[in-house]
Amino acid sequence: MAIDLVCFRTVDKKTAKEKTVHEGITYYFCSKNCRVEFEASPENYISGDDGDDLVPA
Ligand SMILES: [Zn+2]
Repeated sequence: MAIDLVCFRTVDKKTAKEKTVHEGITYYFCSKNCRVEFEASPENYISGDDGDDLVPA
């Protein structure tokens, strides 16, 4: 599982329709809306050390 950094829902990587790659890391989202929010300002959502299940692409 991955965490949607915008709304903090858990997202299943296998079924996630929305994802984006930022600086070599794939992020998953519950909805297009969350993905767009993240892409607008990724720095606001990346905490640095809380990347539970975020694996470099
Ligand atoms: Zn979301």
